[in-house]
Amino acid sequence: MNKNKNSFLFKDISSLKGVGKITKAYLEKKRIEKVKDLLCDLPHSIIDRSKISKIKELEIGKIATLKVKVSKYNFPRIRNLPNKVICSDNDNKINIIFFNSFEGYIRKVLPIGKDVIISGKIHYYKKNYQITNPTYIRLAEQKAELTKIFPKYSLTEGLNEKIYRSLIHNVINNISHDYDWYKKDFLKKNNFNRLKTTLNNLHNPVKKIDIFSNDYRRLAYDEILANLLVLLSSRKSVRSATKSKKIYQDKFSKILLNNFPYNLTNDQKLVLKSLDQDLKSEKRMFRLLQGDVGSGKTVLAFLAAANVIESGYQVAFMAPTEILANQHFDQAKKLFSSINIKIEILTGNTSSKNKKKIKLGLADGSIKLLIGTHSLFQKKIDFSNLGFIIIDEQHKFGVNQRVRLAKKGGDNCDILSMSATPIPRTMMLSIFGDMDLSILKEKPKNRKNIITLLKPENKISEIWPLIKKQLSEDKQVFWVCPLIDDSKKLNYSSAIKKFEIIKKKFPNESGLLHGSLDNQEKDKILFKFLKKEIKILVSTTVIEVGINFPDANIIVIENSNKFGLSQLHQLRGRVGRGIHESYCIMLYKNNLSQNAKKRLKILRKTNDGFLIADEDLKIRGHGDILGFQQSGIKDFRFADPIHHKDLFLLAEKQIKNMNIKDFKNYEDLINFYDRVNLVNDIAN
Ligand code: ADP
Ligand code: MG
Repeated sequence: MNKNKNSFLFKDISSLKGVGKITKAYLEKKRIEKVKDLLCDLPHSIIDRSKISKIKELEIGKIATLKVKVSKYNFPRIRNLPNKVICSDNDNKINIIFFNSFEGYIRKVLPIGKDVIISGKIHYYKKNYQITNPTYIRLAEQKAELTKIFPKYSLTEGLNEKIYRSLIHNVINNISHDYDWYKKDFLKKNNFNRLKTTLNNLHNPVKKIDIFSNDYRRLAYDEILANLLVLLSSRKSVRSATKSKKIYQDKFSKILLNNFPYNLTNDQKLVLKSLDQDLKSEKRMFRLLQGDVGSGKTVLAFLAAANVIESGYQVAFMAPTEILANQHFDQAKKLFSSINIKIEILTGNTSSKNKKKIKLGLADGSIKLLIGTHSLFQKKIDFSNLGFIIIDEQHKFGVNQRVRLAKKGGDNCDILSMSATPIPRTMMLSIFGDMDLSILKEKPKNRKNIITLLKPENKISEIWPLIKKQLSEDKQVFWVCPLIDDSKKLNYSSAIKKFEIIKKKFPNESGLLHGSLDNQEKDKILFKFLKKEIKILVSTTVIEVGINFPDANIIVIENSNKFGLSQLHQLRGRVGRGIHESYCIMLYKNNLSQNAKKRLKILRKTNDGFLIADEDLKIRGHGDILGFQQSGIKDFRFADPIHHKDLFLLAEKQIKNMNIKDFKNYEDLINFYDRVNLVNDIAN
C-alpha cells in the first residue's frame, strides 16, 4: 500500500514547498497543521467560470467571467489614482480598474483592439460596471485555460486562493495511486473510489458539495470507521486489565433500599444487576447508563456506591455543576443517614481550610463518598483506595476525558457514566463504543403526568390565571426565552425584556438567570429559587442540567419552535419532579407553519425521550440535537447520522468481521482523521 511513500501526508504543513512561516500561520488558523489536513477541508462550493456572461446581464456583487474587447486606456498621471481600461461587448461598457499597477503590464495583458477574457467580482460605480483588480485575464485565444469551474474554500483572510488550490493539487498528485487502507474488493463492493481518486474528485467539484455522492460517502465512512476503531481499542485496553473483585453482601444497599418510599422499576432492577455483576467481576466496569431525566439513574448509582463502600473502597461522584453537586450531596446525606459513613463535597467554592481537611480524609480513607465537580480530579486530590467513579451527565465529557478518568482511578476503579441525552441507536457504537450500555426505558410509575399545551403568543393572557393559582399554592414557575437580550436581527423573546414584564406582574417573586452571568451569580440565583425566595425564574436554556426543583410545576417556553424537540423535552423535564401535576406551556408566534406545529405536537403525543430524539433527528439533522455537540458527534466532520445511517451500520459490520491484528492496517486511517491523540492517550 505504499505506506512510506505517502508518509509525507502526516508531516507538518511547513514541509510543503511554498509554505513559509506566514502561510503556515494562516493555515493554522484554519486548523491545518499537517499536510493531510489540507485534504480534509473540502471546498464548500464552486466558482463557475465556465459560463461567459454578457455585460448587460451582469449582477452586482457576483463573480463573473466576460469576453470583451479592449477599447481605451486611461492612465492618470497622478499618484494613487488607479489605471483604468475601458472594455466593451456589443454596445455595453465595463471599466477594468487597476490599483498599484504599471502601464507596461496593462498594455501587455490587455492590448487595444484584442478580445480578452476577464474574470472578477462585479461592482457598480458612477453608473458603470467595473471590475477592480480582476482575478484572471487571458487573451481570448487562451479561453480553455480560464473558463473552468473552481473549487471555493472557506479561506482565512490573507490566503491566496490560487496558491491554496495549487498546494492541494500538488499534495493530491503526490499520493500514490494504490495507496489505501481498504482492500480493492471492499471499495468495489461499496462503490467507493480509491483514496487518491476520491480526494481528487472532491477537490475538483463540478457542482456544490453533495453528501450523497460516492466520494463524499467514502470520506464519511472513513471517519466513522476511524472513530469506531479508536473506541474499540480503548475498550480493549480497559478490558484487558484485571482488577480485584469487589466483595460485599448487599448490607448497605439493602438499608438504602428499605429507606426508599417506593419499589424499583423492573428496568432499574435489571440495571442494578448489571452493575452488581460488573463490580463483582475481575473486569473493570466501564458502563454508560442512559435514561430520560427522572428515570431513576441517580438512585441506582447510589445503590452501587453503597455496595462499593461496603466492600471497603471509596467512591467519587462527579456532577457537571456546583448546584447539582450540592443536590447530590444533600440526597446522599439523606439516603446514607442510617449507615454511619463520612460523605463530603468538594467544588471550586470549597474553602481552602475545608479542602485541606478533605484531602486528609481522602488520604487516610475516612471519607467514603466524595461528591463534587471537576475539582474532584485535580492532580492534587489523592484517594487512599478509590474503587468507583460515577459521572453524572456524561455527555459533557469526551472520550479523551473518559480515558483520563479511568487512568486517574487506578487499576481497581470501576466507572459508571450517566446520561440523559438519548443517542440514536445507529450512532451509539460510534460514539460510546468504548463502553457497555444500560438503558432505563421505563419511568417510575408514580410520576404525575406533565400536561403539555401549545399556545399562540397572543393568547398568553389565558395562562395568567393558571400561573397565579399555582403560585398561590406555593408552586414555582420556569419561564424560558431563547435570547438573553433583545436582538435587532431575531424576532424572539429575550429573558431580560421578559423579566421586566414579569417583575411588574409579580413583584418580589421573580428572578432572572442567563448565560452571561458568571457561575457564582448563577448559582446564587438557583439557590434562591431552590429556597423559594424566587417563585418565577425567567431564564434562557441555562436551566437545562438535571437540577431537581420539586415544587416547580410550570414551565413556559417562548418561541418554542426555535428549539429542537429533544431540547424542549429536556426543558420539560425540569418540571414534574415532585408529586404535583405539572404543566409545560409552549408558546409560538401566530404565523407558525403547519409543519412547525406538527413538529411541536410530537411533544404532546409522547414523553419518550428516545422517540423524540429520533423524530428530531429526522426533522432537523444532528447539529441541533441537544447534547450531541458535547457527546462526541462534533468530532465528525463528514459523517451525518441521518443521511449516512447505512454507513454507521456498515462500519459496525466491518468491525465485527475484523481481527484484532487487522487493526494495525488502519493506523493511517486513524491518523488521517485525527483520532491519533486518542490513540496516544490510550496507549500511555
Ligand atoms: P435521574 O437521575 O435519572 O434523573 P433520579 O434517580 O434522580 O433520576 O430520580 C428522580 C426522582 O425519582 C428522585 O426523586 C427519585 O427518588 C425518584 N425515583 C427513582 N426511582 C424511582 C422509582 N422506582 N419509583 C418512584 N420514584 C423513583
Ligand atoms: Mg440525575
